[in-house]
Amino acid sequence: MPKKKRVRKSPQRKSTSEYCKPSSTKKIMLYHDMAVYENFERCAQRIFAILRNSQRECPDAERTLLFRVQGHRNDEGGYDHDAWEIIRHFIPEYIFPFLTAMINPFGEIRNNKKQRNDMPDLLVIGYPAGEEGDFWYDVDLLPIRAREVNGSSRKSPPSKEAIARYLGVEDSPSCLVCWGTPAERAHAVPSSLGGSMDVRNFALLCVYHHKQAPDIADAEAFWAWVDYAERRDAGSKWERESDHVKEKVQQFGSRTEKVDRSEVAFIDAVKFELEHLYGWEDDDFARFSWDLQEEYHRVLDAATRKHFGVERKVATHSWAYDVALYRITRDSEARKRRRNKVLLYESIPE
Ligand SMILES: [Zn+2]
Repeated sequence: MPKKKRVRKSPQRKSTSEYCKPSSTKKIMLYHDMAVYENFERCAQRIFAILRNSQRECPDAERTLLFRVQGHRNDEGGYDHDAWEIIRHFIPEYIFPFLTAMINPFGEIRNNKKQRNDMPDLLVIGYPAGEEGDFWYDVDLLPIRAREVNGSSRKSPPSKEAIARYLGVEDSPSCLVCWGTPAERAHAVPSSLGGSMDVRNFALLCVYHHKQAPDIADAEAFWAWVDYAERRDAGSKWERESDHVKEKVQQFGSRTEKVDRSEVAFIDAVKFELEHLYGWEDDDFARFSWDLQEEYHRVLDAATRKHFGVERKVATHSWAYDVALYRITRDSEARKRRRNKVLLYESIPE
C-alpha cells in the first residue's frame, strides 16, 4: 500500500467498530481532519457523527478526540472563521464534555470533569437571529464570494507546490477528490469572474475532476462540490490499492472502483446533482417553469463562466438552477431544509 500522508477518515469508511469490541474497550481515539473543502457546518456534523457512533459502538469508553485542520488559513496565517469556530467554540463548548481529552493544533487538554455519555441524537446548528442570510450566498447581487478576505494581489497563480504546501500534502500532491495524479491547479472562483490568485482560491484536481468542477462565483459552493464529488467518487481512490486493502474497504460497505458517469445524459446528470448536492426533492423539481428558466439564464450570465474547452459543465448548471430556484421562490425554510439534508453525512448512490 503506497504511503499516504493525507489521512482521511469518515464515520462510514472507518466506523469505530474497527477499533474496538463493545464492552471490552476502555479507551478510544477519535480522529477528524477538517478538510479544506469542509465548512463549519459539514465539519461540525461529522465530528458529532464520529462521537455519536463511538458511543453506540463502544459505550462509555474513554474518548480522546484528535483534531487537525487542512488549509483554512486567514490573512495573518491563523485559522479562518470556519476553522476557528470549530476550534474555539464548537469543540470546547459542545463536544468536550463528552470527551476525556482532546488534542487540537494547540496541544492536548484533559477534561477535569467526568466524561458525559448522554449525547443527543441530532446536532442542530442555529444561526444568530436575523443574521442567517449572512452565512449564505447573496442571490440578489450574485457577487463573488471568496474564501480569502484580503486575497493577495499577486498577478500569477501560485505554484502547484505552494498549493500543496498550503493544504499540507506537499509529499504527495494529488487530486482532492480521487487522490489521482498528476493534479492540476483549479480555481475556486475563476479569474474570469474576478477570482484572485491567492493560494486560498485554489484546489488540486486531476484532469478528470477539473473538467467537472463548477466555474462559479461562490467559492463555498465550489468547495461543497469538491466535498460532494469526493463522496460520489469515493471508490476511485482505492483503485490503485492491493486486493487485500480493497477487501477491507469493501467490508465497510464502500466501493473500491470508479463509477464512470460520463455517459449519463446532461439533463439527468444535472438532476442527479440537484438532488444529491443541493438536496432538491420532488416539490422543488415540480417548480420548473419559464420563470425559473429565465432566472437560471440570468444567474448563468452574471455569476458563472465557461471553462476553457468545456462547453457545458453539469456542476456549473446545477448551481445556477439552485440559485435561480431561491430567487423565484424566496422560500428560506425550504432552502434551509435542503441545505441541512445534504449536510448530514450520507453516501451518494451510483
Ligand atoms: Zn480526481
